[in-house]
Amino acid sequence: MSMKNNLLSGIEEDAVLEVQLKMPYTLTTGKAAGTFLAALDQKIILGTTCNKCKKVIVPATDYCGACGGQNEGFLEMPHSGTITAVTRTNEKVFIFIRLDGADIDLLHIFHGEFADAQIGARVKAKWPTNVDEPSRITSLAGFELGTDSPSVSPRPFTGTIEPISEIPYQLTLDYKHSYGPHYGRMFDELATRQRIIGSRCSSCHNVLVPPREYCDVCFAPTDLYKDVSDAGKLQAFSIINLEFVGQTRTPPYVYGEVVLDGSATRLIHNIGGFDITKAKEILSIGMKVKAVWRPLDQCKGTLDDIEYFQPIFE
Ligand SMILES: [Zn+2]
Ligand SMILES: [Zn+2]
Repeated sequence: MSMKNNLLSGIEEDAVLEVQLKMPYTLTTGKAAGTFLAALDQKIILGTTCNKCKKVIVPATDYCGACGGQNEGFLEMPHSGTITAVTRTNEKVFIFIRLDGADIDLLHIFHGEFADAQIGARVKAKWPTNVDEPSRITSLAGFELGTDSPSVSPRPFTGTIEPISEIPYQLTLDYKHSYGPHYGRMFDELATRQRIIGSRCSSCHNVLVPPREYCDVCFAPTDLYKDVSDAGKLQAFSIINLEFVGQTRTPPYVYGEVVLDGSATRLIHNIGGFDITKAKEILSIGMKVKAVWRPLDQCKGTLDDIEYFQPIFE
């Protein structure tokens, strides 16, 4: 049985939204990892000994992952070891290295051909010629084939190194979100005609915004695109006074749920066009609101083509 919705006939191109998600945050290193990272700037690889199981752990940790024991003391590790595992991405070869005298493998980059990264092969630390940012795991460039000679054993670290306490970090994810035919059509209408469309359920005849393939309530296919009004009722609202990461507006501002006239669904959008500091007194549930559009030549085919919904006082 074909479930193809007849709304889709004649629509061939799927619009794509290119998005970048940025998550800036601060990584708290802890004492041992902070000391390990700071030591890399001095070309020192630090491990720790567990006070219970006596395992030699690299990178240095405050607590043993195997038994929960504590760091008994820092060790200065040899710069050579043996490959225990290998994998690669399109750009890099990664290896697990068992540094001489260690009981735990260290993950780092292999500098060389994938074919040469054989399990059991001897490798030695490779240090960067210039460091972009100090006290990072990349302050050690990785490992390459070869052995430091003469080979040494881990020895107690007697120097003092001030640990770093945190690393500013930003996770950036680029991705493409396919609108699909229904959203594509809706955004196209927004950008070219400043018109909001929904799709009608073939069973309950509710009009759903944004338009979609199936009704969320009866699971029946939708059968028709319908224009809905750019005015409607404020169903709920929230006044945002807090600042938080990723915010695109400066508080205070208001988000509201709007049920557009002719539709059965709620659209979340900005509520504005009035004195926001008096939002609590001015706004009420059920009040009428109307879209304030950006100039047509600035419309890009997103919900942002509507600047906000403005309360209508009757
Ligand atoms: Zn342990
Ligand atoms: Zn329905």
